[in-house]
Amino acid sequence: MGLEVGIVGLPNVGKSTLFQALTKAHAEIANYPFCTIEPNIGIVPVKDDRMTRLVQLVEPDKVVPSTLRVVDIAGLVKGASKGEGLGNQFLSHIRQIDAIIHLVRCFEDENVSHVSGALSPLDDLEVIKTELILADLDQVERKLERTIKQAKGDKTAAESIPVLQKLLDTLAKGELAQAIQLNEQEKLLIRDLNLITMKPYLYVGNVSETMLTEDEGHFLKLKELAEKEGIQVVKICAKIEAELAEMDAEEATLFMQDLGIEESGLDQLARAGYHLLDQITYFTAGKQEVRAWNIMRGTQAPKAAGKIHSDFEKGFIRAVVYHYDDINQLGSEAAVKDAGRLRMEGKDYVVQDGDVIHFRFNV
Ligand code: GDP
Repeated sequence: MGLEVGIVGLPNVGKSTLFQALTKAHAEIANYPFCTIEPNIGIVPVKDDRMTRLVQLVEPDKVVPSTLRVVDIAGLVKGASKGEGLGNQFLSHIRQIDAIIHLVRCFEDENVSHVSGALSPLDDLEVIKTELILADLDQVERKLERTIKQAKGDKTAAESIPVLQKLLDTLAKGELAQAIQLNEQEKLLIRDLNLITMKPYLYVGNVSETMLTEDEGHFLKLKELAEKEGIQVVKICAKIEAELAEMDAEEATLFMQDLGIEESGLDQLARAGYHLLDQITYFTAGKQEVRAWNIMRGTQAPKAAGKIHSDFEKGFIRAVVYHYDDINQLGSEAAVKDAGRLRMEGKDYVVQDGDVIHFRFNV
């Protein structure tokens, strides 16, 4: 299973609206190899201009973009951390995902009620973060109790006590678990806890239709917070995304021109999520298919090959590699080869963003 980001937010912030747009958008892609999986999972293609250019140059029969899985995590309300009703379901869902998208309401609409009465993105975020911190705190407390009992005869358990204690103190102060610095060994000791506030996150401000081109009002506050924290922030209007998802590509482009935006919110969101998960792209490009593959930054060639098929990893011999910039500049793979820019790389090679690769393997 691929990496997943989860959408989290208070009721009535626009989660369902955005999610409908997400699930519709992917159904429109030609040659799409995935069908709808579960109702709460959307698969979003990650737009990449380099793909467009590769397709122009190679003219393949089939084009497959890389994708991001987005999960709708319903059920976050004040008190969710206590695990009552929907809360339980919420907690088990959110522990499974790799990164969090905080959807924050920035749109004014008298007809859509707000849980706490007044619209205030920063207060909303506080409510949510507090619930997540409380949920982690509960988890760490219970783990610490168990570990202290085990520690008598178990060295690993004994080692994890100070780490758990550090976590407990941080969470109890109302800070995210990721606020503390842990070394690799410490991280390993607490990995099975799947702490929610350890996961990377970003903010999405759901703004009114009229606010898309300006950074003002409620969104501005969110943006300022994001800048202060060094967190990515994306501005969307869920209502417009839902409309865009119903249109064909040409109509959508015209509509976006009218609105004065260059790129849909979903495309920006997919890219931001990709970045958040530290994913990079390599390509395979042949007459049959041009395809983008996402891997974690720092992945070595055999593992990257394993994305395509496990045989590619097991029987890996070498990778024949050039860079997108080479073919972009020279116009064809043959020209890249003639220019001496085709390289043979072995199993220690760390795949770079924009590499175009043919794998050689035997089974
Ligand atoms: P959820 O509870 O977070 O899933 O929120 P919904 O997606 O159900 O949205 C709650 C209400 O807000 C619905 O009536 C939506 O039509 C409305 N809504 C969602 N996004 C927008 C938006 O961008 N602008 C406006 N004006 N209304 C929106």
